[in-house]
Amino acid sequence: MFKQDDQLNNRSYYEATVLRDAAKPLLRGSLDVDVCVVGGGLAGLSSAIELAKRGYRVAILEARRIGWGASGRNGGQMIAGFACDNNIFERELGLEGARAAWQMSVEATELIRERIAEFNIDCDFVPGYMTVSVKPSKTCDLRAGFEELTQKYHYPHLQFIEPNELPDWIASPRYHAGLFDAGSGHLHPLKYTLGLARAAEQLGVQLYEHSPVTHFRAGEPAIVETQEGSIRARFVVLAGNVYLGQLAPQIEPHIMPVGTYIIATEPLDPTTANTLIRDRVAVCDNNFVLDYFRTTVDHRMLFGGRVSYSTLTPPNLPNVMRGNMLRAFPQLQQAKVEYCWGGFVDISMNRAPDFGRLAPNLYYLQGFSGHGLAATGLAGKLAAEAIAGQAERFDLMARVKHRPFPGGRLLRTPALVLGMLYYRLRDML
Ligand SMILES: Cc1cc2nc3c(=O)[nH]c(=O)nc-3n(C[C@H](O)[C@H](O)[C@H](O)COP(=O)(O)OP(=O)(O)OC[C@H]3O[C@@H](n4cnc5c(N)ncnc54)[C@H](O)[C@@H]3O)c2cc1C
Repeated sequence: MFKQDDQLNNRSYYEATVLRDAAKPLLRGSLDVDVCVVGGGLAGLSSAIELAKRGYRVAILEARRIGWGASGRNGGQMIAGFACDNNIFERELGLEGARAAWQMSVEATELIRERIAEFNIDCDFVPGYMTVSVKPSKTCDLRAGFEELTQKYHYPHLQFIEPNELPDWIASPRYHAGLFDAGSGHLHPLKYTLGLARAAEQLGVQLYEHSPVTHFRAGEPAIVETQEGSIRARFVVLAGNVYLGQLAPQIEPHIMPVGTYIIATEPLDPTTANTLIRDRVAVCDNNFVLDYFRTTVDHRMLFGGRVSYSTLTPPNLPNVMRGNMLRAFPQLQQAKVEYCWGGFVDISMNRAPDFGRLAPNLYYLQGFSGHGLAATGLAGKLAAEAIAGQAERFDLMARVKHRPFPGGRLLRTPALVLGMLYYRLRDML
């Protein structure tokens, strides 16, 4: 759907370090199931697993390969919370609703730990995550976040890292203070996603790859069509991220595709890698356009950031990304960059996830806004609960209102670029 998207994914460190199973079949002919899931990323797989566990007959239709989208390409940072501030939930749902939403995000991180154990998924999981500030004014934001989460949201896993303590944590001249979260962590997202796909299959879910959905009709049953086949389903879950596009024109304007990019260095000397970040936790700064990084089990620095609001890959990407990495870790001057890739996140106007129904039996899960590694798992669980008749938690999240991006299909992107420029400038001041 987006120019250069395949090329971007082909250069991913993750694709280079997994052994994919043979491709799943294309959907051919007609099939009857209880639930048809569109999209073989983390949101779709989570929905399918939860539904299959409840006894539903489920099929997933994936346009490319399982994990081809953001789920197989992301920074691997498993973080409690959502991309938006809690005050968005407070405004829309009241304090108790916002607390419930926060608690669900914590449940999402626990769900990943549970699934790794339950399905025996080898995905390089490392506990621990730290948000860092690049200057004193951003440290004030960090401290405010610490106070809010500990006092108002009763989150017990945080530790504030004062400026004089930070050098013990990160060997970088760039950062000022930190907020450590022992409840979050990081993993190899493609290994995790493929592990979930295997688990789903073991639970009886039918997986179809290279089977893009071209059309669907609401109704009972709903009909979901691909070029060579069709599925009759009592329920449909749309989990296609920005790639759904015009398949669901009602919800497309709620999200915008924003490109974000990652590099991985060659393997570093293990002792050097150990000295960069204490306990090898994941790190992310609290700028609006943020840098996120971690070291991998094979001792590479994996450094993400840089965004594109135009869906075009920024020029000279590996060098620009390398420059960002060296700004944080000048000691990596000699380290070669071996991989550079990227993908699209589905940002919503208010950065809150966008869950809802297009019809009573037609669910959608989107708007993770670059913070979906854990939240997608929760999303699938909530959709499954709702389909099984327990819609309270899904409906709480679905109460968050989502406005379309202004400007219609053609003018949305320029309008977004202008809006983001303001925030980028704020980061620089
Ligand atoms: C570079 C990058 C870094 C990121 N880093 C982080 C991070 O560190 N931490 C974090 O929490 N989040 C991160 N994210 C966000 C996170 O990866 C996403 O929020 C999450 O993976 C979204 O999962 P999904 O299942 O909704 O979408 P996807 O994984 O994109 O899956 C959607 C799937 O639907 C398929 N599809 C679409 N349309 C159709 C159709 N018509 N028919 C059939 N199939 C279709 C697509 O092919 C795709 O495989 C990052 C994202 C990117 C791109």
